[in-house]
Formats: sequence, structure tokens, C-alpha cells
Amino acid sequence: MDPRMVDSHVPAELPAYVYDIGALGRHLAGVREKTRGVELFYAAKANPDARVLETIAPLVDGIEVASGGELEHVRAVLPDARLAFGGPGKTDTELGLALREAERVHVESPHELRRLAAFRRDADVLLRVNLAGERAGVALAMSGPFGMDPEAMDACREMLRGAPWVRLRGVHAHLASGLDADAAVRQSREVLGWARPWLEKAGVESPEINLGGGMGVDYAAPGSRFDWTSYGRRVADLALPGETLRIEPGRAISVYCGWYVTRVLDVKRAHGAWYAVLLGGTHHLRTPVTKNHDQPFTVLPRDEPGPSVEDAPVTLVGQLCTPKDVFARDVPVTRLAVGDVVAFSMAGAYAWNISHHDFLMHPKPAFHYVTS
Ligand SMILES: *Cc1c(COP(=O)(O)O)cnc(C)c1O
Repeated sequence: MDPRMVDSHVPAELPAYVYDIGALGRHLAGVREKTRGVELFYAAKANPDARVLETIAPLVDGIEVASGGELEHVRAVLPDARLAFGGPGKTDTELGLALREAERVHVESPHELRRLAAFRRDADVLLRVNLAGERAGVALAMSGPFGMDPEAMDACREMLRGAPWVRLRGVHAHLASGLDADAAVRQSREVLGWARPWLEKAGVESPEINLGGGMGVDYAAPGSRFDWTSYGRRVADLALPGETLRIEPGRAISVYCGWYVTRVLDVKRAHGAWYAVLLGGTHHLRTPVTKNHDQPFTVLPRDEPGPSVEDAPVTLVGQLCTPKDVFARDVPVTRLAVGDVVAFSMAGAYAWNISHHDFLMHPKPAFHYVTS
């Protein structure tokens, strides 16, 4: 929603999350339109809120889940959704669930494949590859324990010969996040360049290649958007006949629909710097701490008695007794006063669901669903 419209959706009780599900649907419909050449899955870990999932489901081909908990939750909310199950460190219980409920299992290691094969049940798998290479300029390179080196992929290929009930359908790769369209296309080419000859050697017909998520989001420019038009057109052009390309973005789908709305409890000056202390804190909205950014916000003046600051940089903090409880640091404001409402935007992904809600035992925010 446009920041100028937030004021008409401020709930009586604060702090609160406000999800603009109308805006989410419009945004995703646009993404869908621009990515017709690929299958589009939504990565539920970005935001598994039930209303958010219900809004997203009719506009995507499926949902990617990364734990047994996510799988059970998404299945309860969306009984008919196509599911893909990924993530490192799956337990036997999770593998069993995945075999029952997910149409694709993303296998992360030779040992995991061995354990999956031991079920002796029909399974359709993608092997997750972790290609080496420069990931310059990305927000988060998925280096480390995610997926397999090409050598381990070869070991899996050998293992599959002895387990025909496990059907190799293709390759999965999610190598980085925070990509712009050019970087995402470059990475897609890299994955395809590696995967095609490997899949051919494995004799996989009509192969599926999951190119991952990671489409960039710019918290310093809330109005900017990943260039889905350019990315969608160029990736569709990369697809060969008989091949299915799939993407599974999370953040770039749901981030814009969420707002964390709260109000100013105190304004004060300490050691020469201005601080606004807000109701709530990063135990509700941890995103700025994990991403080390200033969470974008809109001030809605309320004209209440109390201290204020004008034409100065202000650090917006929460109620937690830790110097890390910072939403935004030294951001210039024209005026900020006690009682004013502050609406943080871009709080629809990796926000509430990654936050440490119980720290200090403050009340939890309410959740509101609006359509702008
Ligand atoms: C987290 C994750 C995604 C989604 O990443 P975004 O940066 O939110 O788009 C997709 N696939 C896998 C395997 C992931 O772990």
C-alpha cells in the first residue's frame, strides 16, 4: 500500500502487524504474468502466515517448504497445494512426511539420499547442487552445508541405479539471495550450463531445473522492485523444449505487503544523539538487526503532548534492554513526537516469523488484514 494510505489502516491497539493482502495479490499477479515461462513456487519460510498463504496460493504453481513443521502447517492451510520439500538436516519423520505430502523432495547429501531410498517408497527427487563460484554483490551466499558438490552429486547418481523407486527428476540450486535481475539471469545460466550435461548423463528425460529464489529486495529504496519483466523474459528464453524451469522466491513476493505499526513512547537526547523509544521492538521485527539496515518507515503525526525532535537525525529503538534493539539509526526526520504513529514498511518477509518474541515477555502484536 502507498505510505499515504497507511493512516486509514492504523489499528486501535498497537503495536500491530498490518498485512495488505490486496496489494500482495496485485503484486504477485504481476510477477506471475511476467514469469509465464517458468513454474513459480513460493518459499513459505519468508512468511507462512495463513492469510498470506491463502492469498498467494492461487497465483503460484506450488509452495516450497523447508521443515516438517512448515509442511504440516502449509498442508493444513492449503490442502491441495503442490509442495516441494527442501532444507538441510531432514529427520526420518520429515522424510516420511515429505514422501507422503510433497511431490518433490530436494535431496541435500548422499547420506540423505540413502536414508530416503531406505523407505523403499516411490519418490520424485531433485538433487540440490552447490556450485562453487563468485557470488559477488549478493546479500547472502548460500555457501556451507547447503546442497552438494558436483562430486557428491555423481555419488548420488551411482546410488540411484540401485534404488529405481527413487526417480531422479532434476536438479535444484539456490545459490544466493539479494540478486538483481542481471545477476539472477547470470546465475541461472551458470546452473543450466552445469545441470544440462549432468542430467543428460544421468539419462533424465524431461528434466526439471529449480533455479532457486533470492530475487533482490532493496530496503533503502522501498519503491523499487526486482525487474521481473527482464528476468522473466530472459529466463523463459533460456528454457529448452521438454525442460521445466522452476523458481522459488520468498522475500521478493511477500516483503512489501507487511507493515509493523507502532507508536512513540518517549523522545530523548543521550550523549548528543536523539532517540525515539517505540512501543514493541525488534523482538517483533527482527529484520533490521539481521540485515543490519534501517527499516524504512512513515511517521503519522498525532499531536499529543510530550517531547519531540525536529530536523535532526533520530535513532528509533524498541523497549528491549539491549543496545541491539534498533529499528533505524540516525535517520533524519522533520518532526517526531511522543504519541506519533510509526509505520515500518517492508515487514512482510523474514519479519515476525524470525523474531525472538518471548524475550522480555512483552505482549505480542495483533495481526490485521486489509485491502488497500
Ligand atoms: C530461503 C530459500 C528460498 C527463498 O529465498 P528468498 O531470498 O526469500 O527468495 C528459496 N529456496 C531455498 C532452498 C531457500 O532456502
